[in-house]
Parts: sequence; C-alpha cells; structure tokens
Amino acid sequence: MIEFATLCSGSSGNATYVRGGNTRIIVDIGCTASKLVSHLEEIGVCPQEIDGVFITHEHSDHIRGVSVFARKYGVPVFASPKTCEALPFQNELSRGQLVPFSYEFALGDIAVEFLKLYHDARQPVGMSFYHHGKQFSLVTDTGLFSKTMEQSLSHADGILLEANYSEEMLKNGPYPFYLKQRIAGDRGHLSNVDTARALGAIDNKNKKIVLGHLSEVNNTPDVARQEITAELLRLGCPAVTDLAVAPRYEAGPLFTLEEA
Ligand SMILES: [Zn+2]
Ligand SMILES: [Zn+2]
Repeated sequence: MIEFATLCSGSSGNATYVRGGNTRIIVDIGCTASKLVSHLEEIGVCPQEIDGVFITHEHSDHIRGVSVFARKYGVPVFASPKTCEALPFQNELSRGQLVPFSYEFALGDIAVEFLKLYHDARQPVGMSFYHHGKQFSLVTDTGLFSKTMEQSLSHADGILLEANYSEEMLKNGPYPFYLKQRIAGDRGHLSNVDTARALGAIDNKNKKIVLGHLSEVNNTPDVARQEITAELLRLGCPAVTDLAVAPRYEAGPLFTLEEA
C-alpha cells in the first residue's frame, strides 16, 4: 500500500508526504519546519516517524524548511548530485546527512525512479515511488511534459501533477513581461492546457489525480478544472472525474493506493 498527501502546495511552499510499507518520506519542504510539523499533525503523522526528505530542486518554495527539519529530527536528505551542490544549507547538515542519489534508488520499503524535469534549476527531478506493485508519481515545476514522464505516469495509481497557470490569466495578469516569458517557457511551468494534454496522453482511468503548484495570481482551482476539462473534451479524451486540487496552506486528504 502507498499513502500520499500534499502538505502545502504552490509558490508559497510545497511539501508532500508519501508512505510505502513502513517507510515514510517527505518530498520537498517549502514551508517552515514548524509549519510542516503542524501539517503532518493534520494527517496524523509524527515528525519522528519520517525516514527521509527528498528534494526535487533548489528553489526556495521547495527547500525553505529542509535544513531545520533535517537537523531537528536527524533525517537524511536526498537530492540529485547537482541539486546537492546548489543547496545553500549544505554546510549546516552533518557529515553524510546529504545524500546524492543516482538514477534508481531505494529507501527502506520504497523504490524511487527519478524523472528529468524541464525547469530553470540545476538538476530538477520529478519522482515515481513504488511499493508492492503500487506507484505514486509526482511531477511539478516543469515547462515540458516529456515522453519519459508520459511512460512513467501511465502506470501510476496516484499522481500529483502541476497545473500552474491559466494561459489567459497569465497573459492578462500583472506579472512583468520577462516573468510571463519565464513561466510559459520550456523551463518554466505547466499551464492548465499542458496539464490537460498530459492527462490525455496517459491512461487516466482508475488513477487518483491531484493537481498541484497552482499559481495564486494566474490560476484558481475552478479555472484549472474548467480549462482542463475543456481541453480534454477538445482532444476527444475522457474527462477526469473527481479531479482533486491540493490546498495551498494546509494538508490535503490522505489518499491510499491499495494492492488488489
Ligand atoms: Zn521551481
Ligand atoms: Zn516550485
């Protein structure tokens, strides 16, 4: 069985809880460590139970609370080799606490596959987690949805997928031109339409799909659902029923992916 829950989501901070068997991990801590502990409480998890923190990339909305949390609870931190080099708090951790991972990796009961992201960071990665035939995949902060992602997510039972912005809202919104270009670029973020195309490309039936990392300025949960549904319809793909959206400042529901 795999369990997962978003703990916070969006440019104000991202963190996701994943359990596979007896192994419990957190992917990114973009809020403060104390906020993270209260978000864990919301889903009934003690911080002492966490076995490791995985980092997708070095942007502050993904690492803000990592150093304090890792030191306080003595947990290892895993990141891609170049992300390790880019982390501003490397020297705060004890020797061996920051572990660079290779392409395939396992921690306790969870096997991890890393997916290259297209984003303006050193070596950003998405992740697919496996336990006893169940798979949870996490892909946020990418300007492109690649074939590799498509192949991996096709087999997932649960997915956290970015739906960062509405093209319309970004275009007409208050951001300066350079920032609009950055967000919409190939190393930026996925729009609602990009996300719909990704969901159309994978077999989205029988999957628990959660949208995450929504922009506070250029998207809303309702707009994301509407634009994704409209684009799937336009593509002739089946609609995704009960599309969940990760709350920005609190933990979302704990989803369970059960073995048959
Ligand atoms: Zn980022
Ligand atoms: Zn981000």
